[in-house]
Parts: sequence; C-alpha cells; structure tokens
Amino acid sequence: MIRQKYPLKWNKENFSIKIFCSIPNIATGILVKADKTHFVVDPGDGILRDLNKEIGTQNILNISNLFITHGHHDHVGGVWALLTYMRVMHKQSPLSIHFPKGCIEIESIYNAFKKVYNKTLPYNIHLKIINDSRSFKSKGVMVKPFPVIHKEYLHDGITTRQVPAVGFKFTYKGMKICYGGDTAYCEALVKNAKNSDLAVIEAGHEDETPDDMHMTLEEAKMIGESAKQYFLVHVPE
Ligand SMILES: [Zn+2]
Ligand SMILES: [Zn+2]
Repeated sequence: MIRQKYPLKWNKENFSIKIFCSIPNIATGILVKADKTHFVVDPGDGILRDLNKEIGTQNILNISNLFITHGHHDHVGGVWALLTYMRVMHKQSPLSIHFPKGCIEIESIYNAFKKVYNKTLPYNIHLKIINDSRSFKSKGVMVKPFPVIHKEYLHDGITTRQVPAVGFKFTYKGMKICYGGDTAYCEALVKNAKNSDLAVIEAGHEDETPDDMHMTLEEAKMIGESAKQYFLVHVPE
C-alpha cells in the first residue's frame, strides 16, 4: 500500500500519472500522460502553478482534454485559471472538457468564460457531456467513465442529494489506470478498479462508519488491493 505524500507519481513505460494534490475541501490536481498526450483530471485550485512547474507553458498549451469527475470546488477550482492561461498564451489546438451530465459548475464556468472572452479566444472548447458508461478513445487512450455514488448536504445540513459524479478508467497500450473521484463504496468502482495497473482510490471519510459521500479507509483499501498497485487519496488531513 502506498499512502499519500504529495505529489504521488506512478508510471509504466510511457504511461504515467502524477497527483499533485488531493485534499478534501481544499484541492485536487492530476496529470495523466500517454507518450506526448497530456490529460488533466480534476483541475482544482493550484493546478496552473503545478502544471507550469511540471510540464511548462508549451505542454500546457498541448493539453487536449480535461476530465472532471464532479463539480465540487476542490475538483474544479482551477478550471478558470487554466482556460484563461491558455487564452493568454495563445493556445491553438482545441480543448475538450468531459464532465458528468448535470454538472452545473462546469456549465457555469464555461458560460461565464465564453461571455468574457468569446471574441478573443484563440482555441476551440468542446464540451463533452458524459451521460452513460460508454468508452471512447481520445489521442490513443481509451477512456471509460463510470457512475459513482457521491452526495452533498443541502442547506439544512441534514438532507443529502446525489451530485452528478463519475470515475474514469484510462487504458493505454493495455495498461490501466482507474480513478474513482469522490465516491462512497460502489460496485462500478469495485469492477473498474479490479486488476487495474493502478487504482487511485479516495478514502475521504472522517471515521469508520460507511456513508454515501466518501469511503472509509477500510473500504478504500479493500478496493485498492484488487488492483496491482494503488494510491489512497483525499484522506482528511
Ligand atoms: Zn473532493
Ligand atoms: Zn466531492
């Protein structure tokens, strides 16, 4: 088992993941590389700083896809900065943003961004709404989204509701990385994490009583151990 001490890095041949950060209610930031392809997953606050340090401006402009698991601020807080930086630095190639259907945070950030910069945007943004678990290929990487269970409190602090939330499995040349995002224990994650080369599993629950927002350490470990290697992330500090 590998406990979190950020950044977390894993690679197999030319397929790699670097988790700059994954702290509940603060920030997440993940870079997936497959040869020259750069994907960013859950660009939370600080992602622009971390990417600049890691891959530099030119490779930031080469990022082709953003993958958003859900709209909580610790997973999308850096989207505006990233989109704006790409504009200022004259990105030319298109950017696809994948996010679960109904994720109003991404829709709203995109709409506001278009409103401010529409006339001066040097690159195209394609919104890719995830509505099912169908796999798709992008830049030679097979991407499989899967639904997860992740709830949030309403104003009363008692009632909860499910938020649009997914995990992603990335497969490149037969190598598999599974990232569940924020999720309670769920079968879709169990299935996708199993036999992955790397599973990135959240253990965000505060104590050991299972609920429908995050996983306990025990639940997360159980799923992680079904993969060849795993990271536990999003553990409360
Ligand atoms: Zn989170
Ligand atoms: Zn969340």
